Amino acid sequence: MEIQDIKTHLSITDVLTHYGLRSDHNNRIKCPWHDDKTPSLQIYPSTNTWTCFSSKCKAGSGDATDMIMKMERCTKHEALIKATEMTGGASSKPKEEEITRSAVTHPEVPSCSNTTRDH
Ligand SMILES: [Zn+2]
Repeated sequence: MEIQDIKTHLSITDVLTHYGLRSDHNNRIKCPWHDDKTPSLQIYPSTNTWTCFSSKCKAGSGDATDMIMKMERCTKHEALIKATEMTGGASSKPKEEEITRSAVTHPEVPSCSNTTRDH
């Protein structure tokens, strides 16, 4: 899937739902990136963007992918992989990468010694 496709398929509300956030009737949520007493993070579903209006906050504004980046504290590339997963798109390649990465950190012990054929 192309980046532009991901951005078209992934709505900002999908991202909010994924993180258990729910916008109020003004399309505002409590900003997850600063100590927010009243909802000051404005969601714009029509453009799939958001802006935090608090002067205490450094999050600023962004789109759905930026939100994933900030929520996960990950790179844009990783955010796009997550975005692909959220849209239910094909993500076989990133998953293979994940398996390879986890295999390096947690090498699998060969299980042939444990194999019991008879009962
Ligand atoms: Zn904020």
